[in-house]
Amino acid sequence: MKSFKDLLSQGGGTRFSQRVVETKMCPHNNQMLELRETTKINKDGESTVHQQWTECLCEVATATKKRQVELKVEQFDRYTTQNPDLEHASLNDFQYSEDRSQMKALQKAINYIERFVPNNGKKLYFFGDVGVGKSHLAISIHKEIKEKGFTSIYLEMDKIMRIIKDTWSKNSEETEGEFFKVLQEVDLLVIDDLGAEHNSQWVQEKLFSILNSRMGRNTIFTSNLSPLELDKTYSRRISDRILDRIEVEDCIEIELKTSYRKKKLLEQLMNNKPENT
Ligand SMILES: [Zn+2]
Repeated sequence: MKSFKDLLSQGGGTRFSQRVVETKMCPHNNQMLELRETTKINKDGESTVHQQWTECLCEVATATKKRQVELKVEQFDRYTTQNPDLEHASLNDFQYSEDRSQMKALQKAINYIERFVPNNGKKLYFFGDVGVGKSHLAISIHKEIKEKGFTSIYLEMDKIMRIIKDTWSKNSEETEGEFFKVLQEVDLLVIDDLGAEHNSQWVQEKLFSILNSRMGRNTIFTSNLSPLELDKTYSRRISDRILDRIEVEDCIEIELKTSYRKKKLLEQLMNNKPENT
């Protein structure tokens, strides 16, 4: 009968050993880096050697890395909506009626901002008819998250597709790959008006890549489609990705008797203020 120790030395077949070959200070002179050599010996006794420097995690390196992501996000942030109704939208001027669903949605937005942690994969899915304030809430969250010092991108779904197409142009400053990398790395991605874009096989493929690359990252959706209707517009694997690990209570329906836009317009008329001055 073999002992547990025998199993350890023979059982797995492959053994590893590691040693530090060299050390140096990181370029910022804040942290000692190690060149680590790993030797792998397989069950036939053949060995392979691999050397790699440890990554610098000092404050300067972390800040530099964060800044690099921020710069890339800024590069794409100019695509954020220029819709004048939403440009100055904030949570403070979100006018909710006595309607409970709107109040609940606002509370969800506030909680989301307060509890925001990068990379914890929290999602929100606002849905309802046109003009109930979904985009207003979504863009307000985007602004507040940036205010807190995180990176965020807010884009309408059809605009995402337009930017991808623009990167194909010879004169484009960015490549499609760069755009996708930013969409992947940004702390929060807000996709507005999901389902309103012109749908095609091509769009489905691009959307799937984006969603796939953001697994475990914070993403907010707004849509006219209820989560149960996603399957009618998108392939199963896309709706699965959208709803992956989303809590039921984080799918928030906003329903109104009077549409949000109409209400704002009425108020402006009452105050005798022309729109968009
Ligand atoms: Zn360093």
